Amino acid sequence: MEKLDFQMYEFNRMAWRNDIAEEVWGYRIKRISNAISQLERLSVIEGIRKGCLDYLKPSQLKTMSEEFAEYGLIPIAVNAHPVINSYSIRETEANDNEPVLIRVFMTKPEYAIEILKNYFKEKGNLVNGKYLSYPECCTLFFEDIWQQKRYCDTTWFMAQNTKNKEKKGNCIEIKESPIWSNTLLRWASVRPVFHMPCSLDCEETQELGKKIIQLGYEKGFNEEMDWLKEILSWRVKWSALHGIAMIETPLFITVTMTDTTPDKYEVIRHGKELEDIKLPEEWLWKDNGFSSYEGMCESHLPLLKTIKEIKGKSILDLGCGNGYLAYSTGLIPYGLDLNEKAINRAKKMFSEYKDNFFHMNISDYKWNIDTDIVVMSAGRLMEMSMEQRKQMKKNMINYKGTIVVESYGDWLYAYGSLEALCDKVGLKIEKKYENDYASTGIVTGIIP
Ligand SMILES: [Zn+2]
Repeated sequence: MEKLDFQMYEFNRMAWRNDIAEEVWGYRIKRISNAISQLERLSVIEGIRKGCLDYLKPSQLKTMSEEFAEYGLIPIAVNAHPVINSYSIRETEANDNEPVLIRVFMTKPEYAIEILKNYFKEKGNLVNGKYLSYPECCTLFFEDIWQQKRYCDTTWFMAQNTKNKEKKGNCIEIKESPIWSNTLLRWASVRPVFHMPCSLDCEETQELGKKIIQLGYEKGFNEEMDWLKEILSWRVKWSALHGIAMIETPLFITVTMTDTTPDKYEVIRHGKELEDIKLPEEWLWKDNGFSSYEGMCESHLPLLKTIKEIKGKSILDLGCGNGYLAYSTGLIPYGLDLNEKAINRAKKMFSEYKDNFFHMNISDYKWNIDTDIVVMSAGRLMEMSMEQRKQMKKNMINYKGTIVVESYGDWLYAYGSLEALCDKVGLKIEKKYENDYASTGIVTGIIP
């Protein structure tokens, strides 16, 4: 690969195929990238890796050190970097007069002295690779391409090292490759591992990628890991010309800087095409009373966390819309709603549970479905007549399972808090999780 000795400044732009793609996958990518950055540390805490690297502002050192100590990790400050906003930060030393980021190794105490002793003796990257538990083949590859040959984009070389490929001139096609070592979407912060693999099918990288994704599931990032696996299975085409790289997927394109080449280079990783990707339509969130996909997902998060803590096998959502929330809990979903269209969609979307969704007014419900958990919006009780509310509470008192109440936006604004709203309708609750969108609690007492 012939490289000219100048580079574009760093930039990164993303364009989406359409609004729905951006609404749904833009949000999912945010969640995936947050999960991945948490997994960087969690993988050290859980012993999958010996250490992880971070760049901290001097002002973060104290609070972060305290936070790490909680998890049994200690930060070792190894050097100072000039402040650059880029993931592709190179090993450069800052001078005393410029603002710096502190490069910090987070590790367990048993490795700390060893790392400190070796860090300054050996070359930084090799020590980094060893203690970040990156595969040796990948560390050597990185040292060669990035550090010695000074390329800033390893994609072409990674593709060249891939076993199962077809190369025609400056185009490499990879018909089949595992998702666990696919780092072609790293510019969108989507990646299964934290290093640059030596190839798209590096076996050690695959092992590591599998472990990290498994850890993600264990730590409760179920949706994020499902989405990550999905997006990594898409077709990707990377192309580079004159210092600009384009990374095309069926739903979005990223344009970013790369090494400046006089000729065009292409890497195509085959995978799911546009027609294989199921994109939801607006009704998915509109049926459930939300104006955006993000709003619906964020509003459901506290509830999903609460439900996870309750040992239950089945759940009934009173006012279930199209059943998406009940289904997302992973329990056997039941639901009823006055919106017939939404109920019909639930029956269609979750066809294996089609007999569990009913078109019905909540106040007519006789509490005769035997589930471990019932979830309802506290505001529903406010909307009922006094008589209906009385009857409802009678049924609630007789119910043997756990009742979870939640409240979203408008109701919360109107009453200030979930407790205040529940107080108004005669429910005592133990408050559980909340975020900017919603608040949840478990009913502990009912005043008839
Ligand atoms: Zn490797």
